[in-house]
Amino acid sequence: MSFDVLKLARPELRDLIPYTPASYEPDCIRMNANESPYRSPGDNTVRGLNIYPPPRPWALRARLAAHYAVPDEEMLVTRGSSEAIDVLIRAFCAAGKDEILVCPPTFDMYRLYAGIQGAKVIEVPLRRDSDLRLDFALNTEAVIEALRDRTKLIFICSPNNPTGRSMTVSDVNAICDATRGRSLVILDEAYLEFSDKPSFRPLQEDNDHLVLLRTLSKFVSLAGVRCGALIGTPKLVELLGSVLPPYTFPTPSIELVLEALSEDSLKTSKKRIALLRNERARLARGLMNIPTITRVWPSDANFLLIETTARERITEKARRGGILLRTFGEQKSLEQCVRITVGQPEENDLLVEVLGARTDQKNTVRSNGE
Ligand code: PMP
Repeated sequence: MSFDVLKLARPELRDLIPYTPASYEPDCIRMNANESPYRSPGDNTVRGLNIYPPPRPWALRARLAAHYAVPDEEMLVTRGSSEAIDVLIRAFCAAGKDEILVCPPTFDMYRLYAGIQGAKVIEVPLRRDSDLRLDFALNTEAVIEALRDRTKLIFICSPNNPTGRSMTVSDVNAICDATRGRSLVILDEAYLEFSDKPSFRPLQEDNDHLVLLRTLSKFVSLAGVRCGALIGTPKLVELLGSVLPPYTFPTPSIELVLEALSEDSLKTSKKRIALLRNERARLARGLMNIPTITRVWPSDANFLLIETTARERITEKARRGGILLRTFGEQKSLEQCVRITVGQPEENDLLVEVLGARTDQKNTVRSNGE
């Protein structure tokens, strides 16, 4: 079932000669990299900020690979999963020629990075259904029908931002079958830890063209550190590694992530995920009592998508209460929607309070947020 995914990459990159970084040996005096021999005052890092980070964060990669239970060679560490999206598009899409396929409503950065690279974006909207548990599923047949020779990357987000729904294994499998030898399928699992569905990792066994994206921005509370992970075949990881410049992953981020992946810290994260999942259900129930909120979609992520008859009024009321919510401009199928990130219990209480949930009025469609 294996095929050389590199055949899909921009041809000029296959012959790229990687930069040779200055060598690093911890016990040697460094007179080879034009760094300062003095530490900056207040520099408490182990490595020292006066010297460059490692060209690629190998120790971090090993730790992350162990965390995600994948071999080191299948893991590329990136500055947030955003950088993984960017490097994939840059490596596979030639400007003005190649295209990506996305299934809106979804994470908008796929479109943005494609636009920056000059790649065309093909949109195949998610399926709609009046049953909220089935709403926003992949339209698998339409995705397969829309594939063309120049469709290099297909982005699927599961659980999807901003709908909160997870995609099914059968839909993803069908897309993988149809794209083998033709395109890469990028499965963005940024919110997986908040879901009780498993990773799509097992599908990689039969699908060299399936790539997974993970991030530390959500579940271990490290959005500010900028650490993401791409999981793919060793050949793909090597190619993308040669496209990323050396020394880009900062020393403080490496040290903080190693700390965050310690057993103790992961225990704390697990407890918080359990708490946030409970809060997600509780917040959903609270929001359903607000008369202008007509739908609360079930969510596998750390946010809820709601539909309202009074979008401006809801966001304005929340803003006056000191709370920011997310709207999506005039994006199709999201005009009436607001995305609410689950906060701490008191924050969720405050939101429901400021939105004024004091009424018996019945809503039109309801879910329990699970
Ligand atoms: N994928 C999805 C679906 C997201 O929602 C986000 C951020 N909101 C990202 C990727 C990027 O996250 P980061 O770069 O912080 O890893």
